[in-house]
Amino acid sequence: MMKILVINSGSSSIKYKLFTMPGECLLLKGVLEHIGEEGSEIANHYSGLRVILEKIKTVDAIGHRVVHGAEKFKKPVLVNKNVIGGIKKCCAIAPLHNPANLAGILACQKILPGIKQVAVFDTAFHQTLPEHAFIYGLPYDYYQKLGVRKYGFHGTSHEYVTMEASKILKQPLRKLKLITCHLGNGCSIAAVNQGKSIDTSMGFTPLEGLVMGTRCGDVDPALITHLMHKKKLDTKEMDRILNKESGLKGISGISNDMRLLEVKALAGNKRAKLAIDIFIYRIRKYIGAYLAVLNGLDALIFTAGIGENQASVRNSICRNLFNCFAKKPKILVIPTNEELMIARQTYKLIGRR
Ligand code: ADP
Repeated sequence: MMKILVINSGSSSIKYKLFTMPGECLLLKGVLEHIGEEGSEIANHYSGLRVILEKIKTVDAIGHRVVHGAEKFKKPVLVNKNVIGGIKKCCAIAPLHNPANLAGILACQKILPGIKQVAVFDTAFHQTLPEHAFIYGLPYDYYQKLGVRKYGFHGTSHEYVTMEASKILKQPLRKLKLITCHLGNGCSIAAVNQGKSIDTSMGFTPLEGLVMGTRCGDVDPALITHLMHKKKLDTKEMDRILNKESGLKGISGISNDMRLLEVKALAGNKRAKLAIDIFIYRIRKYIGAYLAVLNGLDALIFTAGIGENQASVRNSICRNLFNCFAKKPKILVIPTNEELMIARQTYKLIGRR
């Protein structure tokens, strides 16, 4: 039996869960917030992890969530000097996430130098996308020289529900065509054929694709330069508007919280209803596209905050969706568990050695 600590180290928070493996028993979980913020007692990730590790006392291995692994990391890896260098390199294309993930890894190394650490990447599951799905219609040079391509995110969640679906359906992955919908604050959808992701809605960054809590998803790219010019926005401000002021929040003018929007829409608020309608319409469009990509479907899977809890949203997405199917795909709700997936992958990698 091993005690595995899973760390999700963000820019100002550290979430953690402690599991015993292979029994998959959750012993402890928690979150430290406001790291490095003014007036906070926790100055940096190092201090934060000291607090967590003092509470936990003994661990056998640590699994870290790392957002971006680019093309270098197609699987979870044991952390060493090379891996740290690789994650550092990825900071250039994931400046909001990878530096904080790396800070968590380095802090753990310092505090517990002998303990093995594993990095599990949000992009890894989508590394099986074929070229025709991940290359953008831009000069090919940008891919070769700047790494500009679709990467996709939420991979750990899409992979977890894919594996759970295979258990629930009692079918091996090689026999399954799945569409997995991760609908939380961030939202993404993936087409999974024989256990492999073959397309996904998020792109070079987690902004592309579905309409999300505060992110716009797909828009006409020419709009960005148009708006920057019209409203005299610099790149930082434009980026903030697309990531933080758009999506459900931007359309409704009320909130990014789908629960609140449902209440408001039921009470007659037109913009709340419009935001929900747009959210649902975009998902249906992607499902339609992925039916063509997969050439069939065994199951449509819903997960994360909205996907797991809001039946009304699921019902609207699925209404008359499969009317023309002779054999209707199954519709499954599977609670995601990214931390458990990271613990499983950490155990698999460490156990093997
Ligand atoms: P995150 O991407 O931040 O992990 P979640 O997966 O918790 O987000 O999803 C948040 C979204 O799910 C919000 O729009 C929220 O309104 C909706 N939601 C609906 N029911 C619940 C619930 N019981 N718990 C959490 N979020 C819920």
